[in-house]
Amino acid sequence: MSYYRHTKIIATLGPATESKEMLAKLISSGVDILRLNMAHASHQWVDDAMWFIREASAEVGRHVGVMMDVKGPEIRTGNVDAPISVAAGDEFELYIEAAQPTGDVAAVSVNYPGLPDDVAIGATVLIDSGLIRMKVIARDPQRVRLEVLTPGSIGSKRHINLPGVFVKLPCLTAKDEADLRAGVQAGIDFVALSFVRQGSDIEQLRRFLDELGSKAKIIAKIEDQAGVRNMHEIIAEADGVMVARGDLGIEIDYHRLPLVQTQMIAACRDAGKPVIVATHLLETMISSPMPTRAEISDVSNAIREQADAVMLSGETTIGKYPLESVQVMKNIIESIEPSVDAEINLNLELREPKPKMLRSAARLAQSLGESAIIVFTRSGFLAYTLGALRPRGVPIFAFTDNESLFRQLLLPWGVEPFWMKFHDDPEETIQSALETLCTRGWLKSGTTTVVITNVLARGVVIDSLQLRQAP
Ligand code: PEP
Repeated sequence: MSYYRHTKIIATLGPATESKEMLAKLISSGVDILRLNMAHASHQWVDDAMWFIREASAEVGRHVGVMMDVKGPEIRTGNVDAPISVAAGDEFELYIEAAQPTGDVAAVSVNYPGLPDDVAIGATVLIDSGLIRMKVIARDPQRVRLEVLTPGSIGSKRHINLPGVFVKLPCLTAKDEADLRAGVQAGIDFVALSFVRQGSDIEQLRRFLDELGSKAKIIAKIEDQAGVRNMHEIIAEADGVMVARGDLGIEIDYHRLPLVQTQMIAACRDAGKPVIVATHLLETMISSPMPTRAEISDVSNAIREQADAVMLSGETTIGKYPLESVQVMKNIIESIEPSVDAEINLNLELREPKPKMLRSAARLAQSLGESAIIVFTRSGFLAYTLGALRPRGVPIFAFTDNESLFRQLLLPWGVEPFWMKFHDDPEETIQSALETLCTRGWLKSGTTTVVITNVLARGVVIDSLQLRQAP
């Protein structure tokens, strides 16, 4: 077996990668999950992308999970006829869609009616993903008067950030709901929800997915101060978390971003939930075939902190080097992972006897040297927990009979999933798993593996941890 990679790679789909030919290359290059960013996508695009992904997967014989990333409560400027240039010291106005501009200064509408109420005099308003900085100097119930601090050009539908403001927009917009209906219909495996501010946002999304009959796993994108403040309740409700550093780096003091990333990764590991580090990991590879030294260090840091996955955005949506970006990620992971602490995660609280057995299984497999853990799972819990234990150096081979779960198991650290029919007799299931692993080159004949499985003892099903040799 070539190097066994524990850290997963997520790539965002876009013009650079959406053709079936590029998808086949991207999937063979080792991407585990493809992200569909709904900020700019139509439902037809989702259908086409999904169709191409599944066809390309079948062609190259490798599966990927699909994550739909919905916009959530995003604040944006309205449309302008032509971009508005603003200079430092200028006054500018934001007015709610139901109102008219005062007319004495340049102005643009905003899609958040609560904005004038929410911002105090002196508060910071950032336009165009943090590029243009303004300060509130006056307000009435319908308008906010601003002083421009950093100059720029304001176009239509520009992203607005209000650092420190608890935005009162609904956590799921009508567009998000329509996107989710289309995504569920197309068969998405994960939903990433933007700007999650509290645990109840996740509960609301889960209720919506339940109504649609979807079992998609929910990834909470934490990207503002409320999300950071409430991270523990969000982590408890969600199936996984994304450190969405693009917006987070605007919404909090940028120099605290590394601290928040470390805190969020640790909190997720301790709670047994997968965590994704996203945005700007290899940003310069959008136009350059090589990353900067700082980017190499940034990716290494995410690996050392033992994030479950690292994510590519612009690099694979509009970049000139999408495949090279994946290769660079793989190279860094292969070089850095072997140096990462191999200590089993002791902070993960395991309450029931069977999960407690997983910690023993992880330790046992590590002590055997070249080994592996084999686990059979219908809900995914055992495999997600094994991943959270971080048994560095040990592959976790997770077998499930559930097709959608199979793709959802592509996210957690160290888990390699297999989709297989389970036999009534657990022994038959174990034999099939061992044969599959040997035939596909995952296990060498004679390797001692640690198997977590049920056995029948006088007709009673009991949990067991077994040492089994690959045939
Ligand atoms: C981010 O802000 O880092 C992020 C991943 O979200 P989006 O790409 O939707 O801006």
